Order: sequence, then structure tokens, then C-alpha cells
Amino acid sequence: MAELSLQNLNKVYDNGVQAVFDFGLDINDGEFIVLVGPSGCGKSTTLRMIAGLEEITSGKLVIGGRDVTNMAAKDRDIAMVFQNYALYAHMTVYENMGFSLMLRGEDPDETHEKVMAAAEILGLTDQLNKKPKQLSGGQRQRVAVGRAIVRNPKVFLFDEPLSNLDAKLRGSMRRELKLLHQRLKTTIIYVTHDQIEALTLADRIVVMDAGHVQQIGRPIELYDHPANLFVASFIGLPPMNRIPMRVLKDGTLRNGEVRYAPTDAQRALLAPYSGKLVVMGVRPEDMTLGGSMQLIVRLNENLGQHTLVHGNIGKKRVVCKFMDWCEYRPGDVINVGIRSEKVHFFDPDTTNAIG
Ligand code: ADP
Repeated sequence: MAELSLQNLNKVYDNGVQAVFDFGLDINDGEFIVLVGPSGCGKSTTLRMIAGLEEITSGKLVIGGRDVTNMAAKDRDIAMVFQNYALYAHMTVYENMGFSLMLRGEDPDETHEKVMAAAEILGLTDQLNKKPKQLSGGQRQRVAVGRAIVRNPKVFLFDEPLSNLDAKLRGSMRRELKLLHQRLKTTIIYVTHDQIEALTLADRIVVMDAGHVQQIGRPIELYDHPANLFVASFIGLPPMNRIPMRVLKDGTLRNGEVRYAPTDAQRALLAPYSGKLVVMGVRPEDMTLGGSMQLIVRLNENLGQHTLVHGNIGKKRVVCKFMDWCEYRPGDVINVGIRSEKVHFFDPDTTNAIG
């Protein structure tokens, strides 16, 4: 177990591409950190710099009190689990899991004990004599995790470990990883493009875009208080409705048929924007059935415990998430409203949250 300090990490590749800009984060011992963002935003590069698989162009990396910025990967005492599992095809599950300990020259009895203990945790005891190709995707993923566990590393690094699994297996493996972390309490840094994995797994999430950290916080902080429009759109599904609104002289907001009467606190917040545009953000789940605006339904999607109703208020397209089974038809007109305590506002120029 260990805490990490990532100080102003920068990565410029040989071709001149800067993949990561001034990445800074202090990670607590035992914390589960998820780096999330769209493809190409620099997540893997950051993880690989921590692993020692990519050179750090500038900045400093401290793991467990040791400056490891220029230390070889093998000396950093971390274990990485890759998306493609990287198992040895000619070795059994048992050999795959014990291999790194054998290489280190560990006592065979101890290696055996560690492999058996990891197999027990991961439900692989019956699979130890099989070769990887005889296993399902989920089992292979477990072997890859087992190989990391036996090393008892200070830090686990996961690079999109669930991306190769089908949706159902992804869900169950995700829960297994969470349970595993609750049991082992080892520091984890986990990379994914999937905001659901970020929300469900992380103690703290780091949202990245184009090499820059956009926001760092607990899942609830990012969900309730996104720092900018990028985070607001990236976290939460379906994404937040974003409606440009003009702040009128009387303090109310309007864009065609979309009208909003702010609370007193919101009025004060928006006072400097009088006469100007702001972007109003409303999550689909914060649209209410019943209210003063008319929504013309385009599409009704039943998802079991809730319904997504897509439609137009005037010219603006919005999505509403109602916790009912609804059966609206295209062209139906329904009254909707907005939960005022849940509305977000953003500056259209800086894209930053207002307030
Ligand atoms: P992510 O993991 O978020 O998908 P990456 O860290 O893999 O993003 O990549 C970040 C950026 O760095 C991308 O623009 C990518 O094309 C670039 N990049 C990644 N690896 C290399 C490399 N070896 N050489 C040059 N550019 C690279």
C-alpha cells in the first residue's frame, strides 16, 4: 500500500505531440482513483508514466515517499493489468499467476501459497490447470488480476480492464473489482472512457480532456457540481441538457418557449449576466412531469424502471428521464418543468460553471 504524489507531470512524445499537461494529484493510501475521458485525452499516457513504461518529460512522481521519476518500471513496486490481459498462451493459469514470482526467485512454497490464495479470492481454483484459450473472457481477466495480486504491489494500475468484455460481464467484473478493492485496500489507479465505471468504482475521479485535467473530485461532487461544460456533459447519462438562455432585465431566463424563473440565490449569481447569455444545464432526471412548459414528444424510450422522453420545447431539443413507465407517442404534448434546486449555469465564453 502506498500514497502517490503526481507533481506537474508532462508528456511530450518524440513526434512533438504533447499528450499530458501539468498533471497534478496527491493520492491517498488505499484510494481508488479513476482517470476518465474520451479516447486520446491522455489517460493511458498518464498511467504509463506512473508505471514507468513511458518516460516522464517533466515533473515529479513520488510513490510511498520515494522519488521514482527516473526509476525503472520493475523497481517501482506496482502491478499493471492491461485491456488485452497479456497472458502467456503456452502457460497454465497457475503458471501465468506464479510466473513473476518465479522470475524474482521467490521460494516455490511461498509462490504456491500466494497463487492458491489469489485463485481462491478470484474463484479460479478449479481453473488452475487450464490454458488461457480454454477460458472465457471474464476468467482471463481474473487471471490477469490474479497475476497482479500475487505480487502484493504497493499500487495496482488498470488500463481499460473491462473493455473487451460484453456488457453483462462488464457489470459483474466491475462489481468484483470493487469488492476486491474493499478486501485488499490497495491503492488503485484505473483508466476508462466509461463514466459509469468511473462513478461506480472511484473514491475520486479525474476527468481529462485533450491532455488537461478538467476536474478532480468525488463522484457526487462531479455529478452535482461539474466545474465546466465538458465535465457536465461527460458525467451522467443521458448527458445534461444544455440550453443557451438570455438573462432578462427582470431576472428571469428565456430562450423562445423555454422559460425559467431562478431562485433568489440563482438571481444573485446571475446578476452580472443581466442582458447576456448563459448556458443553463438541466440533467434529464431533473426535468419534471408537470410544469409550465410544453414538450412536444419525438421519441419515448422505455428502460424498465424509467422512461426517456425526447422532445422539443419550442425549438430546443431536450431529454427527460421520468421514473415511470410512460407511453407517449410522437406529437403528444406534455407539460414539463425543471427542478430549480438542480439547475446548473455556465459561462458561454469560458465554459466554466458560474458560482
Ligand atoms: P487515451 O488513453 O486517453 O486514449 P493516450 O494517452 O493513449 O490517450 O494518447 C494521448 C495522445 O497522445 C493522443 O493524441 C495519442 O495519439 C498520442 N500518443 C499516444 N502514444 C503515442 C506515441 N507513442 N507517440 C506519439 N503520440 C502518442
